Amino acid sequence: MSDTLALLGGEKAVTSEQADMFKWPIVTKRHEQAVLEVLRAGQMSGLEITKEFEKEYARAIGRKYALAYNNGTAAILGAMYGLGIGLGHEVIVPSITYWASAAPAYTLGATPVFADVDPDTICIDPKDIEHRITPRTKAIVVVHYAGMPADMDAIMKIAGKHNLKILEDCSHAHGALYKGKEIGTFGDAAAFSLMTGKSLAVGEAGILFTDDREVYERALLFGHYIRHDEITLKELKPFAGLPCGGFKHRMHQLSSAFGLVQLELYPQQMAQIDRAMNYFCDLLDGSAGIRPIRPPSCFRKKAGGTNTTKGAWYLPLFKYVTEELEGLSLSRFSEAVRAEGSICDPGCNKPLHVHPLFTTMDVYGHGRPTRIAYLDESTKIEHYVERLPVAESINRRVFQVPWFKHYRPKIIQEHADAYKKVISDYRELLADDTDRGAEAGGYTTFFSSRDTT
Ligand SMILES: *Cc1c(COP(=O)(O)O)cnc(C)c1O
Repeated sequence: MSDTLALLGGEKAVTSEQADMFKWPIVTKRHEQAVLEVLRAGQMSGLEITKEFEKEYARAIGRKYALAYNNGTAAILGAMYGLGIGLGHEVIVPSITYWASAAPAYTLGATPVFADVDPDTICIDPKDIEHRITPRTKAIVVVHYAGMPADMDAIMKIAGKHNLKILEDCSHAHGALYKGKEIGTFGDAAAFSLMTGKSLAVGEAGILFTDDREVYERALLFGHYIRHDEITLKELKPFAGLPCGGFKHRMHQLSSAFGLVQLELYPQQMAQIDRAMNYFCDLLDGSAGIRPIRPPSCFRKKAGGTNTTKGAWYLPLFKYVTEELEGLSLSRFSEAVRAEGSICDPGCNKPLHVHPLFTTMDVYGHGRPTRIAYLDESTKIEHYVERLPVAESINRRVFQVPWFKHYRPKIIQEHADAYKKVISDYRELLADDTDRGAEAGGYTTFFSSRDTT
């Protein structure tokens, strides 16, 4: 390895052929065969394969009811309706997440209330929830952000005390464990995106889980009119036949067929990724200026009730501690790491609470911001404009590292070397560091430059 930073004319640290190191999802002959069978049978819009997918997935995570959707956003909307979220309700949501954790509340006449995130996990901060609860609060949306399980003990305690529903948004954390228990099995309902970029990737798709028959049947009524024959509850039966609210959210059977194969292969793929990512983190643990975001070592790979994992590490993030590198900007740091041939993308999801959709926009023509449109006329928007210091600064303090899909130590070491080289020579980057505080992060789902190729 050359000593000079590649950004300053030296040789790159990453020299190996990367091959399929970042390719995702891993499409096998079995996937192709499964999809082709559906195509040839002309069953793209049927239900049979989708119901089988639901059954297998519910069995895999240990939940009673599963309902498959055309995407994760629809699954969240359906789950919110299922939980009884409606006109005038408030829903507490972390500000750092994909917009679909919050925005569907508008469709139901509810108001999202944003909470800050914990800087160590980037999941909702349990200490920032309770003072936001009002008589209108109906539910807490918990996002296991970037694969990291949220602090469920603390959150469940708050929800129990105030009689609130919990909706887990598991779109980043398929297969992750919190103290030995699979995420998606804590809340009154859980919703997962299964879109192509996510950990368990099957295409444009989503899924809802619950153990509560009423939640399941309300969700059926709302977005799955063709399955209204499954509705048994007296109070819902009279409305069967047409989708209340006017939505049709059925999953595409090409995705269901792909998903059935993926469900079988996922545990092995997840284990490889977990091993590869933990190896990468181990190599960099203790390096100045950076901190892997992962469960503390006392909770990793322990048998029984304490094992906490990140599943397949969707959106793998590290914290950046600029103070340890004499204030070197994250943008300059990441430029130098990328020049070494590795991946280093500053930022994560941008905070939702400051976007005009949640501050000023009148989406449906109520004559005032949608955020307060369903509340008492005297309600002022100022009352709902939060200041969330962690959420507002997090994009300058985290970056995305390579998302390895295979445990190949030599390649992983080269990437770790790229980071180590930049950290050991950081002083050489201070002189031309003019890019302090540049905008990072985005509102879209995250793909690192290499993941899409
Ligand atoms: C991707 C995502 C969703 C929405 O899923 P789609 O399948 O893209 O509609 C919801 N929540 C989070 C946290 C996500 O990352």
